[in-house]
Amino acid sequence: MRPFVYTANPSRVIFGSGTINQLADEVKRLGLNKPLVLSTPEQTQHASSVEALLSSAGIISAGQFNNATMHTPLDVTERALALVKEKGADGVISIGGGSTIGLGKAIALRTDLPQIVIPTTYAGSEMTPIIGQTENGVKTTQSTPKVLPEVVIYDVDFTMSLPPMLSATSGVNAIAHAVEALYAQNGNPVIDLMAEEGIRALARSLPVIVDKPADPEARSDALYGAWLCATCLGLVGMSVHHKLCHVLGGTFNLPHADTHTIVLPHALAYNAPKVPDAMAKIARTLGTPDAVEGLNVLLTKLKVKRGLKEVGMPEDGIDKAADLAVKNPYWNPRPIERAGIREVIRRAWAGERAK
Ligand code: NAD
Repeated sequence: MRPFVYTANPSRVIFGSGTINQLADEVKRLGLNKPLVLSTPEQTQHASSVEALLSSAGIISAGQFNNATMHTPLDVTERALALVKEKGADGVISIGGGSTIGLGKAIALRTDLPQIVIPTTYAGSEMTPIIGQTENGVKTTQSTPKVLPEVVIYDVDFTMSLPPMLSATSGVNAIAHAVEALYAQNGNPVIDLMAEEGIRALARSLPVIVDKPADPEARSDALYGAWLCATCLGLVGMSVHHKLCHVLGGTFNLPHADTHTIVLPHALAYNAPKVPDAMAKIARTLGTPDAVEGLNVLLTKLKVKRGLKEVGMPEDGIDKAADLAVKNPYWNPRPIERAGIREVIRRAWAGERAK
């Protein structure tokens, strides 16, 4: 028998192609009259198309804030909050990846305004009650139901423009949530089903996207997998892999999705001896005899960068990262030992094949 506790997060999810056309109805359902549209500078066009759609349904938005920034810096949040106040916005619509969604969450944390989120990457923030924020270069994370978006509209059409390499690494970022969910301390059979299906959907669709970024079936499969993996991230605890990525990304300002992609096979290899059931499930979903080797093969097919040295981490950062990673560790199935963790980081830095 496997005893468990299962708690679900309340959220409404709409999935498909062209689902953005349901946005106005969702705005009305939440009773919003003047939502503020959020994006990064690179996705101003996406934000404008959202505003135009609202306007054609007779909803005049409170305008756009297009300066969402990676790691949710406090000064950006303060500027967005000033606009919320000035325009009398009564909700936010976040269109973008984790950076934009993070800004929407930061606003919700301080104002309780409802959020409608249209995710355009596979990172998964939309399904979690987690928010990371940066002040004076230090990133802190908290979990509170206040930041969980009320409505998530997955529209495959908005993911078509995600560049192939970012699609690949963002998709592996999603797979990492499912991998760690499969050995989470508070895991349960429902999460296992979602994790396995999420990995399977992403592992079959990402190689297709790298070669044919506009393939609608692969795009839809990947977003479906990303949603499942995001649900895992939102419901159970993460372990050493996420801790390592948090430390490495925060300390050396490394790109989020690349860092997850490079570290994942090494972090899984570290935990492998203690998680035989999870290893078997991951191997099964990847269609290989061994889970770590299955990830190696997938990453080779995706033609992604394999070494942290290729994305800006200095070699003399290895010891610093090892020190930080063993401090206040997250729960992990294998005890956190500095020598082993340093070796994980060293191998990931050098771009060696995980084993
Ligand atoms: P991102 O949001 O920073 O996006 C990367 C770049 O891609 C941006 O310039 C963005 O505008 C662009 N982009 C996104 N979608 C696009 C599309 N469809 N077409 C063209 N360009 C597009 O990257 P991310 O990896 O989604 O998010 C990373 C951030 O999210 C990190 O700060 C991370 O900590 C956070 N995050 C938080 C959680 C959580 O639960 N709180 C979960 C995952 C990630």
